[in-house]
Amino acid sequence: MTRDRSRRPVAQAETTAESPYAVRLDSVSKEYRSGKNAVRALDAVTVGFPRGTFTAVMGPSGSGKSTFLNCAAGLDRPTSGRVVLGDTELSSRSETELTQLRRDRIGFVFQAYNLLGSLTVEENVTLPLRLADRKTDQAFLREVLTAVGLGEHVKRRPSELSGGQQQRVAVARALITRPEVVVADEPTGALDTRSSRQVLELLRHVVDNMGQTVLMVTHDPVAASFADSVVFLADGRLAGELARPIPEQVASRLTHLGEW
Ligand code: ADP
Repeated sequence: MTRDRSRRPVAQAETTAESPYAVRLDSVSKEYRSGKNAVRALDAVTVGFPRGTFTAVMGPSGSGKSTFLNCAAGLDRPTSGRVVLGDTELSSRSETELTQLRRDRIGFVFQAYNLLGSLTVEENVTLPLRLADRKTDQAFLREVLTAVGLGEHVKRRPSELSGGQQQRVAVARALITRPEVVVADEPTGALDTRSSRQVLELLRHVVDNMGQTVLMVTHDPVAASFADSVVFLADGRLAGELARPIPEQVASRLTHLGEW
């Protein structure tokens, strides 16, 4: 798999009739209250993720990465600001609409693969379609299973697969609805170096060859170097971007974020 390093960097969000962004956040803040105390987990974050790009989100522990991902994916509502998925503004949507929108238009990949042990690879991958009462496009299913390197294992159960293979099933499951964005939260956190690399190359492949948009939270500079760009968070605020990241640069920026 080749890695074309000439892709578009993440740009600041702007309002257009037809959004070039798969997802954008417009001055998004999120406060958590516990008793008298309020924690500002996100503070006026404005950023857009162009369609067909791969972005890593990084920052120290507590910098707001999970909150950021949860708001971007409609799992959590901002206290103020707007999140726009394609051309759909999320804040005015009901819980039911958000649930449907997450199911149909966002693909999720988690550190723990979250596969159903009683289902085969193929059944796990097509589950989101069955839940949405949508027909499986067999040609696209083949394409996805081939892309993730599991064409030979469709009848196996997750327990018969390695961790890396299970995560590739999870990626296939995230892709099968042709979502506008795939959101990955530490997707290689539980994997060894070799399996991590395969999963990251797979994410790179789906961006380059299938036009997917991928947003990935990671603490690993090597994982981040597979992305087109890295967005850094510190204390809930955007703390810079790095296009065409290489691991050493990423590690150095992360070290300095501690002082931000
Ligand atoms: P990260 O993923 O970078 O570690 P988080 O988004 O989890 O950061 O957290 C950002 C800040 O918000 C932290 O100070 C955290 O303690 C706080 N926070 C996150 N979720 C909650 C919550 N549900 N209730 C209260 N505070 C929270």
